[in-house]
Amino acid sequence: MLIPCYACESRFRPDEYFLACHDYDRGMDLVAWTCPSCGNRDDLRVLPDAIGFGYPRHGRFSVQDRFRVPGLRRRRQDLRLDITLDKEVWRVPTTLRQWA
Ligand SMILES: [Zn+2]
Repeated sequence: MLIPCYACESRFRPDEYFLACHDYDRGMDLVAWTCPSCGNRDDLRVLPDAIGFGYPRHGRFSVQDRFRVPGLRRRRQDLRLDITLDKEVWRVPTTLRQWA
């Protein structure tokens, strides 16, 4: 299973892909991802069995597209999101932000 970058069309194994997640926004429930290949930043939501792609709209993250990743699970912690697939876990820390 390979997960694509929609900017440069590079494809990544799940461990490469989820290691590139670096900022969990708990309020919007989205993860920031920076492509290891082209440096493009994308926003995504980890869903059961899928990655959701979209964009923030009216203060919420609106999922427009889904990429199926069978077995993908998520658990929201206080200051991070745990992403699990099979027996692997990636922990994405929350960056606290001020909402004006
Ligand atoms: Zn890319």
